[in-house]
Parts: sequence; structure tokens; C-alpha cells
Amino acid sequence: MEDCLFCKFVKNEIKTEKVYEDGDFIIIRDINPQAKNHFLAIPKKHFKYLAEMTADDAATVGRILKKISELKDLLGLDGGYRLVINQGDDAGQTVPHLHVHILSGQKMGWQPA
Ligand code: 5GP
Ligand code: ZN
Repeated sequence: MEDCLFCKFVKNEIKTEKVYEDGDFIIIRDINPQAKNHFLAIPKKHFKYLAEMTADDAATVGRILKKISELKDLLGLDGGYRLVINQGDDAGQTVPHLHVHILSGQKMGWQPA
């Protein structure tokens, strides 16, 4: 996908520090952290919405969620953590490439329920 910031991070066309990378995805630190630890898990394949996923994409996202849960030390997950996927305008999605926000390292100040 041309002109997609996260695709450029994935392909190293724009340099960014990757704290983790495997065949499915990269993890970077959010440039504007909303918690003590704020990472972004970015699938290597470009798509914007969960609704666009093929069965293979869904399997990839499943592997990504499993892997995130295993990276306890790297991501500071021991005290608990929150994953957020913004979808569309009402949720405030600003980057049109699916990504999972990983928030950890503190009590969260806002509760969705
Ligand atoms: P969204 O609002 O689409 O769910 O999340 C996009 C996230 O990407 C935001 O939290 C924003 O701070 C982050 N972001 C935007 N541009 C950059 C950048 O150039 N580098 C990094 N590391 N994060 C970015
Ligand atoms: Zn992209």
C-alpha cells in the first residue's frame, strides 16, 4: 500500500525502532504514549478493518494476540494490560492500517465498562 506510514515502517522505508518482529508483525513504541507503556502491534499485511480479513488474516491476528500475551517482560504485562483496536472514525482511527494498541505499566484511568 503506497503512502501508508505503517507499511513504510514494516518495509523499513521509514526507520523506526522495532522492539519485536517476526513473520506476522512488528511491535513499535507509540510516538504519543497514552500509558506508561504504549506499544503498537502492526501486522505486516496492509488492511484497515477487521471486516476485511480473510480467514488467513484472521489466523494471523490470532497468532499476533497469542504472541503479545507471551511477551510479558518486553511489554511489561505482569500487572495486567489493555489491548485496543480502533476501527473507523467514531473510534478515532487515524492510521488506516490495522494495529493493536498495547497499554501497560499502570492502572488504566478510563474503564470501558
Ligand atoms: P489510531 O488512532 O489509528 O488507533 O492509532 C494510531 C497511533 O499511531 C496513534 O496512537 C499515534 O500516536 C501513532 N503514531 C502516529 N504516527 C506515528 C509515528 O510516526 N511513529 C510512531 N511510533 N507512532 C505513530
Ligand atoms: Zn499499510
